[in-house]
Amino acid sequence: MSDFSQWSLRSELVEAIASQGITEPTPIQQASLADILAGADVLAQAKTGSGKTLAFALGILSGLDAPSGVQALVLCPTRELADQVTQAIRKVAVRLPNVKVSAFYGGIPVRVHVESLVHEPAIVVGTPGRILELIETGALKLDAMKTLVLDEADRMLDMGFEPAIQTIQKALPKKRQTLLFSATFPDAVRALSKSYQRDPKEILLDTDTRSEHIEQLFFEVPISRKADALLHLLGQLQPAQALVFCNTKIDCQQVEQHLAKAGFDVCALHGDLEQRDRDEAMVRFQNGSVRVLVATDVAARGLDVSDLPLVISYELAHQADVHVHRVGRTGRAGKDGRALALVASSEIGRVKAVEEQMSLTAQWQRIDLSAIKLAPLKADWKTLVIDAGRKDKLRPGDILGALTGKQQIAATQVGKIALFDTRAYVALHKNVADKALQLLRQDKIKGRSFRVRLLSPAV
Ligand code: ADP
Ligand code: MG
Repeated sequence: MSDFSQWSLRSELVEAIASQGITEPTPIQQASLADILAGADVLAQAKTGSGKTLAFALGILSGLDAPSGVQALVLCPTRELADQVTQAIRKVAVRLPNVKVSAFYGGIPVRVHVESLVHEPAIVVGTPGRILELIETGALKLDAMKTLVLDEADRMLDMGFEPAIQTIQKALPKKRQTLLFSATFPDAVRALSKSYQRDPKEILLDTDTRSEHIEQLFFEVPISRKADALLHLLGQLQPAQALVFCNTKIDCQQVEQHLAKAGFDVCALHGDLEQRDRDEAMVRFQNGSVRVLVATDVAARGLDVSDLPLVISYELAHQADVHVHRVGRTGRAGKDGRALALVASSEIGRVKAVEEQMSLTAQWQRIDLSAIKLAPLKADWKTLVIDAGRKDKLRPGDILGALTGKQQIAATQVGKIALFDTRAYVALHKNVADKALQLLRQDKIKGRSFRVRLLSPAV
């Protein structure tokens, strides 16, 4: 019996999450679900990776009753997050018949979204800007909705979405449930809660990221030597994977190039990339075909990796709470983590702010930059792209079948399969990647041939 049986959740929901291996609620789920299910307004703060999505997904899906009309709206700060939340809700809803969950965000013509709204989804997930546009054009009608979720509220405020949220809110029924989730709890989030929630239950869990199992170290490195220092640290530590944070898109690109030239399997993730390139960077990191991801803070928000051993700040964040977020990406679920920061002398002042915010004394270490040993991080996996996806009714099982059907490739040599509307990404062990390409080109998938190719390294 799962621990989720303490609440009277529909068996379809409990079974769906059990099939994802989820049987024990996380602390935030344990603390918030009773109130969420009772229809109360809830203000929940818990650090990144603590399972907030499932808490509200279960709430929304338990409350679905009307046969039509949008019943829940989830606002998220970025398109990546909107996609991720959409997928997470869909996974929980798989055993419920006909629950349409749709994501809406910028970068896609409004017309496409307006057309898709002809068939109203039960649950709408999106970024505030695009949701507002859809409300204003009259395409999105929210008068029947029952639950509003403000996810990653702190980030939405940082990104200047307050006015959009304010206007959206006016289009919503007064009588509704409002759930607010945030990784941090600055005054601005409290103010947001005051304006949109009614007598909310407050659940504030420990934001302390100074957990025993995260080792945080600072290295003083001149700006001109940072790229080499990074090579050195990655080579020495040989982490399974690492997330490198840069403050600017240009730094992201340069660091990616530097690491790629040194032979690393690396990708960059930042806001200047096309949506498709962003998807690809995330997929490649998540499926292990890239060992290092170099990202800006905003772009990395959408990234869900549960088991990240190393985070490096190429430059210290300008704000201490952003640094806390970075550190919080490692050492999840009780695993060991390391958070390193390369600090130029001009950034020393920011270390003070971090020390205050996290109540710690920075531990400094030296790097001997005269003896850099190169040991690039190479991935065991490659990513194959198929130019067909959900819209072509392609399923992961079809792809796996086509790859393993002739017994030339074992199921264990096929990794994660990520399905998008018009594309599918398949991780393959590097020893069988070429074979896989050949098989899919020859043998077709479900009797149809699609374009397939392997993604190449960054340089
Ligand atoms: P948050 O929104 O708090 O940052 P997420 O909701 O994205 O975190 O959850 C992080 C990861 O934890 C996801 O991969 C999710 O599938 C997983 N997860 C959520 N709840 C549980 C649970 N009860 N047991 C195990 N894993 C869980
Ligand atoms: Mg979240």
